[in-house]
Amino acid sequence: MANQRAKLVVGNWKMHGRLADNKVLLQAVSQGAGALPQQVGVGVCVPCPYLAQAQVLLNGGRVGWGVQDVSAHAQGAFTGEVAAQMAAEFGASYAIVGHSERRAYHLESVELVATKTVRALEAGLTPIVCVGETLDQREAGATESVIGMQIDAVLAKLSADDAARLVVAYEPVWAIGTGRSASAEQAQAVHAFLRARLAAKSEAAAARVALLYGGSVKPDNAESLFRQQDIDGGLIGGASLKHVDFLAICQAAVTANAMR
Ligand code: PEP
Repeated sequence: MANQRAKLVVGNWKMHGRLADNKVLLQAVSQGAGALPQQVGVGVCVPCPYLAQAQVLLNGGRVGWGVQDVSAHAQGAFTGEVAAQMAAEFGASYAIVGHSERRAYHLESVELVATKTVRALEAGLTPIVCVGETLDQREAGATESVIGMQIDAVLAKLSADDAARLVVAYEPVWAIGTGRSASAEQAQAVHAFLRARLAAKSEAAAARVALLYGGSVKPDNAESLFRQQDIDGGLIGGASLKHVDFLAICQAAVTANAMR
């Protein structure tokens, strides 16, 4: 059965950007995205100091935007943290949670990622829940057990209705920023596994949740990835910093969408 999910391409700027450069990039992305069919969603996740800039340049426009992390707390004495509700006040739509860089460098546990997902949903944000295995885990044949544990910890905290509000990004750690993407077949196999995990929670969630692939997506490999049955778009790191590349990836989503 053909699926009806819209494609979605979201940039993750990580800790890159300066006010002047951001303005040029966001204006170029907005202009380019404005020419794309509405069936393909486009978003960017910016560093938190640029919330106001994203608000001014993107709110009400074609490009949604979000943050790269949120606190597990709603408010309080948590120096340096940013609450989901704070980002929402500026007009953010998305919050990445559980990016592998946060799991690795900030020792975020599966439980913490699940709590952050709940905070994002409470604030009206769409959580983009990242899951993915390391190379050692893949080579040990543990990909499904690792990813299953990561996604199940999140789903366990959600109602079936809230589970249907997620976006999930499969990002193999060995493919992030390495120039070595998963093959379309490898990515599709994991996405099908994730879809089945969602279905075990709720058929509606399995039907609705956009499953993005992330990890060295570039203009030349995007379309073959996005044409896979269970790959609904991409979470794009390095290539989201160049508007020509990012828009070419968005265009690949348009082409793949038309061929579905
Ligand atoms: C990411 O950090 O989410 C990512 C996918 O990075 P890259 O596209 O640079 O591999």
